[in-house]
Formats: sequence, C-alpha cells, structure tokens
Amino acid sequence: MRAITAPYIFDGFDYQLNKAVVFDDKIIDIIDIDRLEINYSNIDIIEYKSSIIYPGFINPHIHLEFSSNISTLKYGDFMEWLHSVIENRDELLNSADDNIMYQACIDMIKSGITTFGAVSSYGLELEVCKKAPQRVIFFNEAIGSIPSAVDALYNDFLQRVDNSIKADPKDKITPAIAIHSPYSVHPILLKRVIQRAKENNMPLSTHFMESPYEREWLEYNSGEFARFFKEKFGVTKAVTTPKEFIEAFDSYPTLFVHAIHLKEEEYQHLALNNHSIIHCPRSNRLLGCGRLNLSKCNNIPISIATDGLSSNWSLNIFDELREALMMHYNQDLDKFAKELLKGITSTPSKALKSNTGEIIKGALADFAVVSLPHLPKDISQLAIQTILHTKDVKSVWIDGEEII
Ligand SMILES: [Zn+2]
Repeated sequence: MRAITAPYIFDGFDYQLNKAVVFDDKIIDIIDIDRLEINYSNIDIIEYKSSIIYPGFINPHIHLEFSSNISTLKYGDFMEWLHSVIENRDELLNSADDNIMYQACIDMIKSGITTFGAVSSYGLELEVCKKAPQRVIFFNEAIGSIPSAVDALYNDFLQRVDNSIKADPKDKITPAIAIHSPYSVHPILLKRVIQRAKENNMPLSTHFMESPYEREWLEYNSGEFARFFKEKFGVTKAVTTPKEFIEAFDSYPTLFVHAIHLKEEEYQHLALNNHSIIHCPRSNRLLGCGRLNLSKCNNIPISIATDGLSSNWSLNIFDELREALMMHYNQDLDKFAKELLKGITSTPSKALKSNTGEIIKGALADFAVVSLPHLPKDISQLAIQTILHTKDVKSVWIDGEEII
C-alpha cells in the first residue's frame, strides 16, 4: 500500500484540493493530505509538487494495424482516402510490424493513456497488445456485406474473439466487439455479432455516419459510394438503411464512432437507448468528414479518441484535446475543457464498463500525473491549462505500479 499526493486531483468529474490517494492495485482511500499520516502510519508517500493527479487516460478508438502510415495515405476527402487505403493496404499492413505497433503503445503511454480501445480487423496486434503496459479493450472487428461469405466471415470473427478471451488476465486484455460500418456489414452478420456481444456482456462499438457519402448511399443508394460498390463488387443497393442499422443496437448500449452526419431523430435515438459517441476530431478533419455538431448531442455521453495513425499524425491524447478545443470554438472555454477531460476519463470508462477513469474507492489504481510550472490559482483554469501545456505527463501508474 502506498499514497500519492498533489495540490489537486481530478476525480473524473471535478477537481479536489489537497488530497492524498491511498492504493495498492486498487484505490483504497482518498483523504485530506493532513490526515494521511494520522490515518496511515508507515506508508510510502510520493508527493507531486505543482501537479494534478488524473485518472489514467482512456483512448477508446484506435487502429494499431495501420501504425506505419506517416505520409502514404491521401487526406482531404473520405473517398480519396479510402481509395488510398485500398491501394496501399498490403504495404502498410506488412510494414506495421510488432516493433512499430509497440512503439505506438509507448507513444500513447507518454501522454498518460493507460487504457486504449484497439479495433482489430485481423487479430494481428493481439500479441503486441498483450505486451503493452496498458489495459487494452480489444475490439474484434466484423466486416462483410456479401451474403454468400457471411458464414465464413462469422466463423473467422468467432475465432478471433475466442483468441482474445483466452488471453491471460495479467495481459490486461478485455475482449470486445466492433462492427465496421452499416455499409460493410450484412444485417444477418450484424445480428449474430451483436448477439455475441450480448452473450458475454462485451463492449460493442461501430463506425457510423462518418462521411456524407455514407448517408447518401444508405439512404438513396447514390453518390460516391454507389460508384465504389458498383465498380468493386457489382452492387447497386445498400445492404441496410440507417434506421434498420441503428435499431439493431436497441437495448444494448453501444459506442458509435464519429456519428457526424446524423439526423435530429437519430441523435435522439442514441440518447434514448443509452448509446454514446466517440469523437475523433482530427481524423474527421483530415478525411474531410466535417465536425461533430455538439449542440445536437444532448444527453449523449461523448468520449474523445485519436483514431489510428491511418487518419492522424500522433496518438498523443493532448494533441487531440487541443485540436478539439480549437475546432469547437463556439463552446465555453473552461467548461468545454473540463468536458474534454471527462471525455478521456469517466465518460469512456462508463461506456466501456471499465473500472478505471475515476479516482474513487475501489477503482483500479491507474493514474496520469500532470505537472505545470505554475498551478493556476483559479480552479476554473486547471482544465484549460492542463490541455494547453501538456504534451507528455510527469508520471503514469497502472495497477498501482509506476510505469513512467
Ligand atoms: Zn475507426
């Protein structure tokens, strides 16, 4: 058992002054610093000066498999990007060896990310995720829209899910399920995959309405995707409608990734069914997809993620928060900065059913300690100054062990 102290802690929702956090692999107590040595004698204490103790940060959506991309893929328009992914897929996948993917995990931990959600198309990164110091929500992805291939794809998917379930608990892998998108997953496959998630109460995520082309195709069977599907697969009609797709998730809270091109009633549907959104602002900007309209997202929890290096230039969570802060320029600065920090702590932790992301008794002892040269005197400035001035954190703890 040991304790860490700092002038401030952020408990996942708010800042508290002069607290000590007592923990082993889980948080045992949060008490006033001046009570620490009275209540706990002979305890190891680390004092962080001019610092804020945060829960370890959660990056709920990345694609490690494309970690070798730096300047290969084409940015500016979703379809052009997609064509460049198809053209360079083999080269990128082959060059993303274990070392490159492991380096991506280490880059994340430097910015305080102690949990990440890795979407896996082929299961190639499972071994790297086991070796990574972080907790990994391992999202086995289902994809396939051609009915004749559904059985084979489902069996391959089940095999990958099983492999992630078999991981040793010390590797900190949480098996989870991802659906690629409404345009790439047949409704029969969709139904089976959601059922599989329900059986083991696994976290479930899906890309949804990322580009304007997606709505055009799903709703009207037209636009750039119509050209794409005709050319590649000889298909002229989408496998599902937005309504059918979204209703397939009723009764099972799901993380909808991007959700930019939604209609009013679809946002309401997400809220009513306790779904949440994962917002990847830099990825959306780079792929020409637009900007999530936060004013439409009433009562929908929003987590923030970097997405993969296939649509971003870094996996640093503070790079993402700074861009989000600037991109959503019409939000109140102080309040929004705090919402963003919730979006990488308590909000994704709830959506992922993870016992992290909050500094409360019983939570896992994962922390990211941020130091500032001068702590602002006004508590309302802590969130904004943390976001503006942090690139790498001072210290990272996972399971009560100091990693950095
Ligand atoms: Zn994605």
